[in-house]
Amino acid sequence: MSEEKIRCKDCSRDITNEGGVSVPTDNGMVCQNCRTNYECCRQINCNIRVSKGSRKYCDKHKKEMECSECRKEVEDVYYSITIGDKLERDYNEAKKFNLCQSHWQQNKESYKEQVSQGKIEVLKSFYSKDGSGFGAEWLTTCKTCQKWSDEYEGVKHGAIIDYTFCSANCQKQYDNLSSEEKQNLIQAKQLSSNSQIKQTQPNSPQEEITNQNKSNYLPWILGGVGVLGIIGIVVYFLTRKENK
Ligand SMILES: [Zn+2]
Ligand SMILES: [Zn+2]
Ligand SMILES: [Zn+2]
Ligand SMILES: [Zn+2]
Repeated sequence: MSEEKIRCKDCSRDITNEGGVSVPTDNGMVCQNCRTNYECCRQINCNIRVSKGSRKYCDKHKKEMECSECRKEVEDVYYSITIGDKLERDYNEAKKFNLCQSHWQQNKESYKEQVSQGKIEVLKSFYSKDGSGFGAEWLTTCKTCQKWSDEYEGVKHGAIIDYTFCSANCQKQYDNLSSEEKQNLIQAKQLSSNSQIKQTQPNSPQEEITNQNKSNYLPWILGGVGVLGIIGIVVYFLTRKENK
């Protein structure tokens, strides 16, 4: 039956018997000759071909791989952003989206509040221009000036690069803070993480507080019992002496 024949969608050649050579695209198979006009979808494990130069992802994966601002397919460099506290991330309820490079540049300052609250994760992915390699890195921010870590070199300790600070200068600035100022920073962080827990789990912090209060009274109760016991023993010996 001629209807069962598979034809290359570009040159119409019969490729019914070229299963291993012809390749799938978004809207049909192409023959081995025509496949040179296509490249593989960039999504790992996807073997759908897309037109060379104009596209990076197949129809199915384009939806996942578009910038949430401009709705364009992301290019060689893009940013995958997850916003939500740890609980939301663990339960897959955090907000996840991709940004193209220019929309990352436009929005990156607005995410710094979430950084200080520990509510954001940013993965920067990049393809080398010649298509030979793919890489990704988690971004952090400088502890002092809050610059994003892909904008600075970090502090070199021999072969190891420390990305906690953007520069030796920022590290010095942080080191010069008095221990009191550092303590304030830590306390501010703890406060914000506590209020985070309160927002997501309204019941449990109350329980925690009452539990803490209980355990705080315990030494006093034990102490009181001890003191009463000693008084009892003293009184016992005193009355025994009087009896003699
Ligand atoms: Zn063809
Ligand atoms: Zn794909
Ligand atoms: Zn965009
Ligand atoms: Zn810095």
